[in-house]
Amino acid sequence: MNDFEYRNGELYCEDLRVSDIADKMGTPFYLYSRHTFISHYQAIDQAFNEIPHIICYSVKANSNVALLKLLANEGSGADIVSGGELYRALKGGIDPGRIVFAGLGKTAEEIEYALKEGILMFNVESSQEMLLINEVAEKMGKQAPVAIRVNPDIDPKTHPNIATGLKESKFGIPLNQAMAEYEVAKRLSSIKPVGIHQHIGSQILESGPFEASLRKIANLANSLKVLGMDIQYINIGGGFGIQYTDEQPPTPEQFAAAIVPILSGSGCTAILEIGRMIAGNAGILATKVLYNKKTEEKEFLVVDAAMNDLMRPALYQADHHVAPVKSLETAREVVVDVVGPICESTDFLARDKVIPEVAQGDLLAVFSTGAYGFCMSSNYNSRPRVPEILVSGKKAYVIRRRETYDDLITWEAIPRDF
Ligand SMILES: *Cc1c(COP(=O)(O)O)cnc(C)c1O
Repeated sequence: MNDFEYRNGELYCEDLRVSDIADKMGTPFYLYSRHTFISHYQAIDQAFNEIPHIICYSVKANSNVALLKLLANEGSGADIVSGGELYRALKGGIDPGRIVFAGLGKTAEEIEYALKEGILMFNVESSQEMLLINEVAEKMGKQAPVAIRVNPDIDPKTHPNIATGLKESKFGIPLNQAMAEYEVAKRLSSIKPVGIHQHIGSQILESGPFEASLRKIANLANSLKVLGMDIQYINIGGGFGIQYTDEQPPTPEQFAAAIVPILSGSGCTAILEIGRMIAGNAGILATKVLYNKKTEEKEFLVVDAAMNDLMRPALYQADHHVAPVKSLETAREVVVDVVGPICESTDFLARDKVIPEVAQGDLLAVFSTGAYGFCMSSNYNSRPRVPEILVSGKKAYVIRRRETYDDLITWEAIPRDF
């Protein structure tokens, strides 16, 4: 399920040549395939068909409003972590009744905004947050539907920086305190406990951690029902892993085969907060080689994209597949570091990569950058952010234009008396 493929040595996105888009748009740019993006959503949706479920796309993975609109058309909900993401989700046309609000630092303003819009529920991460939601809801004369984010103390076997369900993590409420917290919630006049939430990590490459944690969660759901609480939703979080280089992640069907039997007896609607598996392999970052540079130790490709455009390598030592946009089978293979122009040693897109030799001016594609790519980008080193382009068949849409130098200083002001 990938619409990025080589035809006669030329990389295509759906029916367009990446090099043609580069000629028109300049480099660097993010390029997304509409078909890949939507078919990933549909594959997960179908895999969980046996049980009532809602896919709440994790907006933080790629928050472009055009992509949110495509998902809204499919009936997707949204998993948000801020007021800004709520704004985006609503602008994209996502039904507020299918929006869940996670994150451990919600402000009173964000809570009020979400209650006003009538979201499906808050995923509550602490006792104080529960009290604040109650207070805000009471003032507005509303009932706030909540799930408690439970920390099941499960090792998701992923990169430590993206594991979130371990005992020492800042996220959620420990499982052994959850019952007490639900009892408190039940007594609060403007809180209505309706679900249980977990999110154990990201880029999870086996279904075992989900099975282990969801057994605990299903037990908790039963205990809560015995206490007379109307628990209607079990939110399994996100984290379904994808292939970046040689990983072998379970398919949506394989994840579902492990998870569905645990949830099917619960009588609850499953919520899935999937980000990476929908967006990750639906995008590439296209960049141009500015210089070939050789030292005694290393061979570098200095490219026009940098860590401000794609943070994952610097942030998580993420390993992305990198390949020339025009691929000559006869080319000699070389080992290179692909680095950007930024004045930081951590500014690299790939290290010790074996790729066919490329020359100054050639284009490279950094694959699997549809998730946690553009949305993490910044203007560091006063670099205008790159455009996002969405391909659908033979059509290319600019869904975010390239920033200009003027854009860089739009929000700044020189005081009059300077
Ligand atoms: C980031 C996040 C997700 C999405 O994770 P993916 O690995 O992209 O699927 C889901 N839920 C919560 C609470 C998150 O923080």
